[in-house]
Amino acid sequence: MGDDGSQSCPGMLYLVSTPIGNLKDISLRALEVLQAADLIAAEDTRRTRVLLQHYDIATPTTSYFDHNKERKLPQLLAKLCSGKTVALVSDAGTPGISDPAFRIVRECIVNDIQIEALPGATAFVPAVVLSGLPTDRFVFEGFLPVKKGRRKRLEELQGEVRTIVLYESPHRITRTLRDLETFLGDRQAAIARELTKKFEQVLRGSLSDLLQESMARKLKGEFVVVVAGKPK
Ligand code: SAM
Repeated sequence: MGDDGSQSCPGMLYLVSTPIGNLKDISLRALEVLQAADLIAAEDTRRTRVLLQHYDIATPTTSYFDHNKERKLPQLLAKLCSGKTVALVSDAGTPGISDPAFRIVRECIVNDIQIEALPGATAFVPAVVLSGLPTDRFVFEGFLPVKKGRRKRLEELQGEVRTIVLYESPHRITRTLRDLETFLGDRQAAIARELTKKFEQVLRGSLSDLLQESMARKLKGEFVVVVAGKPK
């Protein structure tokens, strides 16, 4: 910030949370920001267009995802430095939560660009509160590494006393439940599936029960896995 309090880069970055399924799960302020922004940087422009069309928002979009961020970041920073307002959205939920945003937030801080995060939908909050497991302390682990570092991460979690929250994709849910049971023991857990969508479901039980269920029914959709911490 300049001596007179002015920003060296006069633009503004908004991190806008978008629905994780139900299109109504968006705040009035988020809609206003998306409407008023000069540009929406979206992880998947086609998916974001569905939301924008639903709310009759015609703001131009550009893509910003993990594999083009090195190229796109300077362009977005240039827009912000020229005084534009950019709204960043991910495919679903809160940008920065297992979704791209970290790099641009860091660069905005370095370049003295104002940032605001609009609170809103994110998958782990409804999952942890619906799990029935203690919510006074929990740890968000995002996705377990698929290959390198997976074992180490699972070993690190063995002594974790807080409730553990993980994201998982449909084709790895069975493997992850099996690994969790092997490394953490047969603890109580919950799977929150397809939250806010038509086939929303929360399965609760021991990890071995949930593993059986997952193998028997080939569970589909998006999942949050919540596991009890190590018993004291
Ligand atoms: N930014 C998102 C958030 O704030 O929750 C997370 C994005 S991450 C790439 C996608 C993962 O979030 C999915 O694999 C799943 O674990 C979880 N997820 C997203 N939507 C979900 C839903 N409707 N029900 C359950 N889990 C969901």
